[in-house]
Amino acid sequence: MPVFRSQRVVLPDGIRPACVHVADGKIATITGYQKGPGDYGEATIMPGVVDTHVHVNEPGRTEWEGFRTATESAAAGGITSIVDMPLNSVPVTTTLKAFETKREAARGQLYVDVGYWGGVVPGNVGELSKMVAAGVLGFKCFLIDSGIAEFGWVAEPELRPAMEELARAGAPLLVHAEVAGPMPAHVEGDPSKYATYLKSRPRASENEAVALAARLCAETQARTHIVHHSSSDALETLREFKHKAPLTAETCPHYLHFAAEEIPDGRTEFKCAPPIRERDNREALWRALEEGVLDMIASDHSPCAPNLKSGDFEKAWGGVSGLQLALPVAWTEARKRGFSESDLARWMCAAPARLAGLQNRKGSIAVGFDADFCIWRPERSFTVDPAKLHHRHKLTPYAGQEFFGVVDAAVLRGEIVRFDDPPRGRELLR
Ligand SMILES: [Zn+2]
Repeated sequence: MPVFRSQRVVLPDGIRPACVHVADGKIATITGYQKGPGDYGEATIMPGVVDTHVHVNEPGRTEWEGFRTATESAAAGGITSIVDMPLNSVPVTTTLKAFETKREAARGQLYVDVGYWGGVVPGNVGELSKMVAAGVLGFKCFLIDSGIAEFGWVAEPELRPAMEELARAGAPLLVHAEVAGPMPAHVEGDPSKYATYLKSRPRASENEAVALAARLCAETQARTHIVHHSSSDALETLREFKHKAPLTAETCPHYLHFAAEEIPDGRTEFKCAPPIRERDNREALWRALEEGVLDMIASDHSPCAPNLKSGDFEKAWGGVSGLQLALPVAWTEARKRGFSESDLARWMCAAPARLAGLQNRKGSIAVGFDADFCIWRPERSFTVDPAKLHHRHKLTPYAGQEFFGVVDAAVLRGEIVRFDDPPRGRELLR
């Protein structure tokens, strides 16, 4: 029976020396530390990271990213489970038929385990329960133009019946929380300046959208999750509603690391929506994570072909590419603020597993769980060399930056992931 040993094993009740015994890909027992084969010494053994926000883009926009490159990047970054977003693939995952097409495209290409979110769009409420029965883990919706014509946005009249349906099905609704109302029709200023872009997507758009989602969550009691939360003003709404409604929220490494004041002009690899905001906003997001108002950190890896990232913030495609770096970026900032690997495991392993309904299999080093581990060195640093990223395209705002947290290996069901081996990842179906 393989054993994974280390002086630093991140267990649900703390970090300590331990031996994790694996049988048939699952954790069989956890015992006190003893010397023997499979000893990782001072390296930390943490649960494999669960990233519930990845845009794989295959089929249809495979030239942006695909299952093979995305899952390789994930494994190289210590992530052992990802959940794919229903856009920007073609077709978008908004029907049962499209879901089957997506599964077909993924076959034989997965280096880590992959689950799927479906989409709620105008007119597809009849598809939702069928998709749940087929294994979709939950659904994403937009309250504003998604940038993809066939992935339409929904407003309260469409949202309420969809949420009632999802409450019955017990599946979560993930909300892109921005509404168009408070957005200026046109912003004066140089489109190559980040400040001009930031003005075009004000906090008010997010605040209003979070308020709408929270209110409908309380009314329908459908599990509701705010994706890529950026506006610190809207944290108060989360704080208020979390007590009376099944409401959760995530933020992303780029909001926790960068600050609007520091983004160079013309560098559209930093463009995402909602935008990266000011320094004080970033600090408020960290306090919210500490307090539990924000539950988790997800990458929102959303790459595109590099030619769509011109120097013009108005025209460039939005999305930050950073799947392989999500753990070191989040850890570097967490470490600076005095948080431990246990905090990180709560935000990047246990909480996302719960969102995806995988809380009995993934996200913890506990008996009966899949033996998925991230083996890494939190005190070792490295400089990001884009050539070493497994992402299909190497353009990333993290290029050349230094981070703590070197990932030695990803372990999937008791075996180290190696890219020379045939892929062993499985689908995560409901
Ligand atoms: Zn996204």
